[in-house]
Amino acid sequence: MSSPEENTYQVIKALCEESNLLAFVEGQEEYEQSLKRLFNGSQSNKPKAFIKPETTDEICHVLQYASANQLQVSVLGGGHDPKGLAIIRVGLVLDLSAMKEIEIDVETATAWVEAGVTVKELDDVTCPLGLAAVNGSCTDVGVIGLTLGGGFGFLSRTQGLAVDNCLQIEIVTATGQRIVASPQKHEQLFWALRGAGHVGYGVVTKVQVKLHKLQEKYVGGE
Ligand SMILES: Cc1cc2nc3c(=O)[nH]c(=O)nc-3n(C[C@H](O)[C@H](O)[C@H](O)COP(=O)(O)OP(=O)(O)OC[C@H]3O[C@@H](n4cnc5c(N)ncnc54)[C@H](O)[C@@H]3O)c2cc1C
Repeated sequence: MSSPEENTYQVIKALCEESNLLAFVEGQEEYEQSLKRLFNGSQSNKPKAFIKPETTDEICHVLQYASANQLQVSVLGGGHDPKGLAIIRVGLVLDLSAMKEIEIDVETATAWVEAGVTVKELDDVTCPLGLAAVNGSCTDVGVIGLTLGGGFGFLSRTQGLAVDNCLQIEIVTATGQRIVASPQKHEQLFWALRGAGHVGYGVVTKVQVKLHKLQEKYVGGE
């Protein structure tokens, strides 16, 4: 009889054979790169494989497959959970670092931010426009990971938490269904995601956030 680890490996291999996805396993450079993104370098979990999806459709496909084949999946955003909770040992990790799209609407002062975007990457795009999201103070933290847990940053004293400034959330559920949650649609899920979003409701693929006009410079040099 094969071990759970061997079974998991076979299920992931079959997923890659029936799709265009690539899985990276221990020993491959891409695997080590994903593992190195964890802030907690002493966490010892090593997943069976990483997959780096580039689109929401790919995530839907992985989750439909995982749900049909009892494959456990965890999600790696910016890698800054202090306990390394993004990584599971016997299972597949979706490393979202390739999903870097940021779509800004200056007129409404809002932005759609994809799941691989970090705090610095969002600031780098909004600040030259004189706008800023409520973001954390650590540049490498994932915007979505931060937002799902509440999110406290430089603007919070005047503008509230990141969750207070989150307008819509696109999520792929465990069965691979794409949903956009907002105060008008799927409102209970929207409520739950804003604070407890990383406890397993699904994979959040992008969030729409409010941007604020920067009045003056508070920190930094010329
Ligand atoms: C050095 C440091 C500085 C920090 N500074 C701040 C700060 O200024 N303000 C603040 O509010 N917080 C701060 N934090 C806390 C940080 O916001 C949380 O730890 C946050 O959960 C990290 O998100 P991440 O995506 O970077 O980490 P990850 O480890 O990748 O993810 C954290 C958790 O969220 C889940 N997750 C991530 N992305 C998704 C997704 N797209 N869909 C579903 N689940 C997802 C993961 O599975 C994991 O369980 C800091 C943490 C560190 C280590």
